[in-house]
Amino acid sequence: MPDWTYELPPLPAQPRRVLLFIAMGSEAAPIAHALQLEHGRGRIGQTEIELLSPGPDPITGIDRIGPVYAAWSLTRAIATRRPDLVVNIGTAGGFAAAGLGIADLVLARDTMFHDARVALPGFDALSRAHARLSAEDARLDSVAAALGARVGLVSSGSSLDATDGEMALFARSRTLAKDMELAALASVCAAERLPLVALKGVTDLVDHAHAGGEPAHEAFVRNLERTCARLAEAAPRLLQACSVRLATGKPFAATEK
Ligand code: SAH
Repeated sequence: MPDWTYELPPLPAQPRRVLLFIAMGSEAAPIAHALQLEHGRGRIGQTEIELLSPGPDPITGIDRIGPVYAAWSLTRAIATRRPDLVVNIGTAGGFAAAGLGIADLVLARDTMFHDARVALPGFDALSRAHARLSAEDARLDSVAAALGARVGLVSSGSSLDATDGEMALFARSRTLAKDMELAALASVCAAERLPLVALKGVTDLVDHAHAGGEPAHEAFVRNLERTCARLAEAAPRLLQACSVRLATGKPFAATEK
């Protein structure tokens, strides 16, 4: 669908240092626990893992969700100490029309900004920032199979709800899920030539909400804990698939813990 795509570098053969970006504290807590991180740091095999979250806003006290703070915190972290791989885990709105339900998982193949509309040649592609994430299709498919996840487009924007125009774009582009951070992280990774992998868990159904069903913010709050538990369960396997498997050269089987 998009006429221009930013290609992110492939996964490193043996990542030494992974930066794990999680936007919200409530998402990060169960995942950090499942990965046995202490003060945001841990290891899987030879791979060092460091948690990165934008943290609370000093004015409102709430977590700094959204593309601006995602790009800000990743850029700062990279400048301090460059990782070999960026991993993003988080919640998203899923599309029931694509067969997704609450707490289902989506491994991102690509991302873009669905709320970027600039009708000028070149600037349209730059703002849309469609990016292909770092693994080859076969690799993504095998990781997704191991996690029980779907693979596809995760689109980002600054809003939790969706406009009619965005709904049409989601249908045209076969979007599986929408969040508020991934395209911003991908833009930073493209500019910095860093590989990026992203796993999203569905807290709300975008098309149901848009058709007058439970609003996204209510579904999000109701399903947050359940979806984060699912993400936490998947997180060690995802990190293993990105690191240990390549380090040891062993194939990553669906049954492997
Ligand atoms: N804290 C608020 C809601 C935040 S939801 C509350 O408690 O009501 C927004 C966060 O979840 C973002 O970090 C975003 O990436 C993700 N998210 C979940 N569902 C989403 C959706 N339908 N659209 C966009 N982002 C969504």
